Amino acid sequence: MSFFKKTEPLLITCPFDIDQRISEKAKRLALRVNYTSGRIELVIPRRMPTKLVERFLYQNQDWIEDKQKTIPTTIPFSCGTTIPLFGVDTLITSNVDASLKRTKVSLCDDVLLIRTYLDDPSQRIQRFLKKEALNKFEELAHQKAELIDKSVQSVSIRDTKSRWGSCSHDGRLSLSWRLIFAPVSAMDYVIAHEVSHLKHMDHSPSFWKTCEALSLDYAKGKPWMKEHGYTLMRYGR
Ligand SMILES: [Zn+2]
Repeated sequence: MSFFKKTEPLLITCPFDIDQRISEKAKRLALRVNYTSGRIELVIPRRMPTKLVERFLYQNQDWIEDKQKTIPTTIPFSCGTTIPLFGVDTLITSNVDASLKRTKVSLCDDVLLIRTYLDDPSQRIQRFLKKEALNKFEELAHQKAELIDKSVQSVSIRDTKSRWGSCSHDGRLSLSWRLIFAPVSAMDYVIAHEVSHLKHMDHSPSFWKTCEALSLDYAKGKPWMKEHGYTLMRYGR
């Protein structure tokens, strides 16, 4: 049985190494970078004639080739890899021992040491990093909230692609654990941003004033997230 219904266009034979997706909602053809998969995606509206799709691709050949050169490559959690953790380039080293019963991960200065019986401990590494991230985010969030006489109800971590953090009306903060890979000024800025929402539930000038005051280095952190935030998605995939 075919996956696509007959009324839908067939995916075209593409001369480029990109992904294709047929969309019910899209009105026009679009090319975009999927920073999670690290690949370019062509969005094809339903019933779009193949000829138009092909022409569109050739018209955008330069864009595709330029983008493919700049998409960050995936950085896996494997032995010998260096990943930035809280602004410190940290080397992952592992000690594989089949007789071990469980995996132990420890962070010591600029070394992430894994003692394991697993061939691929990357899931354990991710779990460890999420915990480290949560501890740090909680500490910073409570510190910052205190400065503006507010209190944080809870901090949780997420792996959302669309936003780095959020703050609910009742003081629950949610942050992407991937901020652990960002420079400290950038990670700190996102936390300051969400904590500032405890006081201002908008993006008014007063909000930004609070956000700046709560940030370690607002002038560095904010633009970093805007320009390089997407690169945080490449770790551990
Ligand atoms: Zn906001």
